[in-house]
Amino acid sequence: MKFSGKNVLVTGSSRGIGAEIAKTLASFGLKVWINYRNGAVEADAVKEAIETDGGNAAVIGFDVSDESAFIDAIKTIIDSDGELSYLVNNAGITNDKLALRMKTDDFMSVINANLTSSFIGCRESMKVMRKKKFGSVVNISSIIGETGNAGQTNYAASKGGVIAMTKSFAIEAATSGIRFNSVTPGFIATEMTNELNDEIKNSINAKIPMKRMGNAKEVAEATAFLLSDHSSYITGETLKVNGGMNMA
Ligand code: NAP
Repeated sequence: MKFSGKNVLVTGSSRGIGAEIAKTLASFGLKVWINYRNGAVEADAVKEAIETDGGNAAVIGFDVSDESAFIDAIKTIIDSDGELSYLVNNAGITNDKLALRMKTDDFMSVINANLTSSFIGCRESMKVMRKKKFGSVVNISSIIGETGNAGQTNYAASKGGVIAMTKSFAIEAATSGIRFNSVTPGFIATEMTNELNDEIKNSINAKIPMKRMGNAKEVAEATAFLLSDHSSYITGETLKVNGGMNMA
């Protein structure tokens, strides 16, 4: 895959989908900044795996919901590399409860971790990308942001917000050479979905036309396409990676 830029920050890339996105982008020649919040050891392991395969990576730990930490991290990248070509806002959490039992703090913690953090990343990267009139950002949303889900009012609101926010950034940045797109994974086998019991997993698989969960590599390759030069006329798009689960 062809990339005109040289480096990328992937938030939440110490494990799961983010780690696979980091490895995939490194395999296409980008220098990858691996971000984590708690998993320093896992982030180092991703860096090592990339370097073993001949790629270039650096680790940068910070909490994406901490605005000043996010701004400092982008400054560190610019000081080191002179630019930030690509950003993947991937870090995300769940905190599931039925709405009647969900405290406002439970709601806001997920909004802050998933939506506000992505807003900060989009805004701060746009500031630096505008200078070179080049950049591409992919926000990892979710099928739940398209369909809603019982027990996930906070997560659904955060991920639906990511889709709408991405379109708005895409419009504002369209003449600055910067593209903003979303990926909406369906059910992907990671630690996040490992928390589900077998009964729930089986009932989910039954509803997927392909009758299986996706894997992180399948999300990573869709993300790489949206970042790459191959999608140069695509902006504000929402790319579903869900085995046919939601085609609307
Ligand atoms: P995961 O396995 O739970 O990994 C989450 C990653 O995000 C970890 O690297 C974690 O780092 C990091 N992270 C969480 N909060 C952070 C914070 N405040 N600051 C910095 N890093 C933070 O999750 P996943 O399944 O790979 O999901 C990745 C993304 O895809 C999320 O946005 C999720 O909502 C979305 N998604 C997942 C699925 C799925 O089926 N798995 C489906 C649709 C969408 P630490 O360990 O250091 O905290």
